[in-house]
Formats: sequence, C-alpha cells, structure tokens
Amino acid sequence: MARKFLIGGNWKCNGTRENVAALVEVLNEGGEFPDNAEVVVAPPSIFLQTVKDTIRPDIKVSTQNVGKNVRPGAYTGELCASMIKDFGVEWVITGHSERRVGFGCAGESSDLIAEKSKVALDCGLNVIMCIGESLAVREANQTLELVLEDHMAAFLKTLEEADWSRVVVAYEPVWAIGTGVTASPAQAQEVHSAIRAWVGEKVSPAVAESLRIIYGGSVKSSNAAELATCPDIDGFLVGGASLKPDFVDIIKAVE
Ligand code: PGA
Repeated sequence: MARKFLIGGNWKCNGTRENVAALVEVLNEGGEFPDNAEVVVAPPSIFLQTVKDTIRPDIKVSTQNVGKNVRPGAYTGELCASMIKDFGVEWVITGHSERRVGFGCAGESSDLIAEKSKVALDCGLNVIMCIGESLAVREANQTLELVLEDHMAAFLKTLEEADWSRVVVAYEPVWAIGTGVTASPAQAQEVHSAIRAWVGEKVSPAVAESLRIIYGGSVKSSNAAELATCPDIDGFLVGGASLKPDFVDIIKAVE
C-alpha cells in the first residue's frame, strides 16, 4: 500500500504576529504541493487561531502538545484534547524530545506521553508521536533498545489496534535536532525499518504496512529528497527549516 508522505512543520516557541503572518503568506503562495504529500504545521498555541483562519486549506494545523485530561478543568497552562478538537484542530504532537527532557522542570515520561496520545486519539484527533535517542544512547549502541522497548513499548501498552490508523511516528534522534547534523539516510532507514518490523510483530502486519514513520532532525531541502527515497521514511518533522521558505522546497522534494 502506498503511504502518503506527511511533512510536519514544528514551529516550536517561535514567532511574532508579524513573522507568523509572513510565513503563512510564503506557504500560501508556495504553489501546488505534490499529490503524495500531506502537510501539517504546528504553531505555538497563541497563534493557532490566526494560522487556522489564514492558512491555505490543504495545510492542516497541529498543537505541539496536549494535556492528559480529556475535559477542561483546573489544569493551569494546559490545552486538553476535547478543547483542541472543539477548536477544529485535527492534529497534535506528543512526546517531542524537548518535552521529554523538560524545561527546568520534570520532563515527560514515556508512559505519560502514551497516555496523552491515547486521550487525544479517543477525542478523534490525529497524533504525531515522537521518539528518538540521545547521542549518549546512540554511542552506547542502545538506540533500538530505547526506541523500541521504551518509547514504542509505552504506545503499544496504551493504544488499541484501531488507534494506529490515526498515528504517525516521528523518529527524531536528539543529536540531530537543531544541530545541523542530519542522520544519514542509512542511519534513519535502519531505525525506521526496525520500528516497522517491531510494529508488524507486536501490533499487526497490516498496521506496520500502513503506519507512517517520519524522520526529524535537521531536515532541509538539500537533504529531504535523498531521505525521502528510503523505503521506510514516510515524511518529515521539520523544526528550524519550517520557519523559512525552505519548508516549501522540502514539501516539494518528496514528489
Ligand atoms: P530541527 O528540529 O529540524 O530544527 O532539527 C526538528 C524537531 O525538533 O522536530
């Protein structure tokens, strides 16, 4: 089965009203996107309304995180899944490595991330679930152990088989995020194919075949086309380059 590429733009905590409007304009004027590409952008929450209202209809909008509670309540600083759904946003990102590490406070555990993903799926949202190893883990040759037996295993424990049709797994080696060092196509393909084989064994061969596994970590238009030729790379989660006109070229690179 042909999997459609998914290209996500993770804007992180970036943007002013002025440059968000300019970025939306760049995307809106970016011409036709390839038929085999689905595009999602994740602006900071404060810009969701304006981006949703002004961006071209073939680009969907995502949050960068979701609370673990379904319903609104006394959760200061959180966005809950039912609120995101009600707002008309279709996607959420969970488990980004920056959230796993935390910002001066406790980071998110694999179990919490799986729980949040499940809540979002139960509310009818689509989820980009991020996984990936640090440099120390890679150098200790423990990449697959961490990515499969910890990060993926938490999702396996929490999700039902039917949930996987609305899931995208983003493999983002932490050592490649924002560093300018991209995983080589061979390094990325090795992990992507291991994830797919693992899902085939633990969930089902059909889920493994249709699951989109996207790569993130210093993706640019200059490396996107080559990465996209790898059989198990089904798109990208792009940070820095998603804030620039280069994002349009990355989308077009998967054609
Ligand atoms: P980067 O970030 O493209 O700037 O490396 C990717 C990400 O964090 O999703």
